[in-house]
Amino acid sequence: MAITPETQSYDAIVVGMGPAGSTAAYELSRAGASVLGLDKQLHPRYKVCGGGLSVRIDRILDADFKSVVEHTIHGVQFSYAGQDPFFIPSAGPIAYMVMRDRFDSLLVEKARRAGTDIHEGESAQDFIPLDGGVEVVTDRGRYRAKVLIGADGANSVVAQRLFPSRRQRGRPSLESEIGIGQAPVYPGEGKVLIDLGATARGYAWIFPKSERLSIGVAEFRGLTTSPREVFQRFIRDEKGLAPFSVPSPSGHPLPLYTAVGSSARRSLVSQRALLVGDAGHLVDPLFGEGIYYAIRSGQMAAASVLDTFHDRRKTLQEYEWAVGREILEEFHIAARLARIVYTFPRLCHRLMNRYHEVIGLYYDVLQGRESYQSFFSKAKSVVKSSFRELLLEAVPLR
Ligand SMILES: Cc1cc2nc3c(=O)[nH]c(=O)nc-3n(C[C@H](O)[C@H](O)[C@H](O)COP(=O)(O)OP(=O)(O)OC[C@H]3O[C@@H](n4cnc5c(N)ncnc54)[C@H](O)[C@@H]3O)c2cc1C
Repeated sequence: MAITPETQSYDAIVVGMGPAGSTAAYELSRAGASVLGLDKQLHPRYKVCGGGLSVRIDRILDADFKSVVEHTIHGVQFSYAGQDPFFIPSAGPIAYMVMRDRFDSLLVEKARRAGTDIHEGESAQDFIPLDGGVEVVTDRGRYRAKVLIGADGANSVVAQRLFPSRRQRGRPSLESEIGIGQAPVYPGEGKVLIDLGATARGYAWIFPKSERLSIGVAEFRGLTTSPREVFQRFIRDEKGLAPFSVPSPSGHPLPLYTAVGSSARRSLVSQRALLVGDAGHLVDPLFGEGIYYAIRSGQMAAASVLDTFHDRRKTLQEYEWAVGREILEEFHIAARLARIVYTFPRLCHRLMNRYHEVIGLYYDVLQGRESYQSFFSKAKSVVKSSFRELLLEAVPLR
């Protein structure tokens, strides 16, 4: 009897074809697994995002994504509420700027070419655990798979339905895209701008693209009464934006990693389902970088799923352990740094201007030459060794 679309079965179903889902689907398909990739939107689609990729992405992604890179960044201009600007250059590139519609579309096409059966404009709505698998109910049909990968972003339905003990919420953020035509990019060729004083406990950014600027604000700690007011103030204070008209921003939750609560609240594996990328809150709590971790977690999830297909002794739990070792240990340090930066933003702004070598070490993290762990201990020793100098400056000896 022919299999009807309602009962079609796959090795894996991936819900959400952003960077996390497309990567997981690509890795599984090219290893020979049968994969269904669902996305409720049609690619290319707009995604609220700064589109900044740290260059350590080179270590995990094939170079073909370079065709959609619009700018390469060689340093950061820091400011505080539009004041006290300073620029810290880097020895080599630290970030690539992409528009997410083009970048994500490229990853979706790679997965499709590798053999993933991709259904766009189809929304996953319910998930029924089965013996040795999961049934996915969409607005168009029903499908079964041995494994389900939840890659459906910050408002993940997979997480809500299959991970009831997860109670994590995203942080408020807003972003707008300014068309600048042929005008020179601001703050300058090869530069991004980061302003720690624009918002109480977060930062505002300007990331240049071809013929446009992505500008946004995000609150990393505490509550924001009005993100739109914060956004408007940033535009008013940032004199370089004066010539441009700024379209009204769009909001999207930023699902920063948080270690608060029991491990069950942060679990990434439940029976035959795994969470990757934003669905698992795998976003760096210091500056909100999520694309790298979406892609990396997609790769790790695929590797773990393939292991269970090839070796019955392996379990999906190994994905969660691997993420813990490679990503979450880093995030714990990033969270400590975030506590310092967003509790004392003005002091940190001043210290960054004073200790350019610490920012240089952070650039090494973006380049993949340092981990957060090695950055933290090196940065501490730089600041400690200058502490006496700082004290002498504050209280000069007679
Ligand atoms: C304002 C802002 C700025 C940011 N800037 C940066 C930055 O500069 N650099 C950086 O690294 N990160 C940044 N991030 C974070 C980054 O956008 C995310 O970490 C990244 O998009 C995560 O990828 P993902 O694949 O997990 O999820 P997404 O990219 O959100 O993809 C999820 C996909 O799932 C689909 N989907 C959702 N629900 C369903 C459903 N029920 N059924 C089927 N499909 C579904 C969606 O249509 C979408 O295509 C920013 C985030 C925000 C909010």
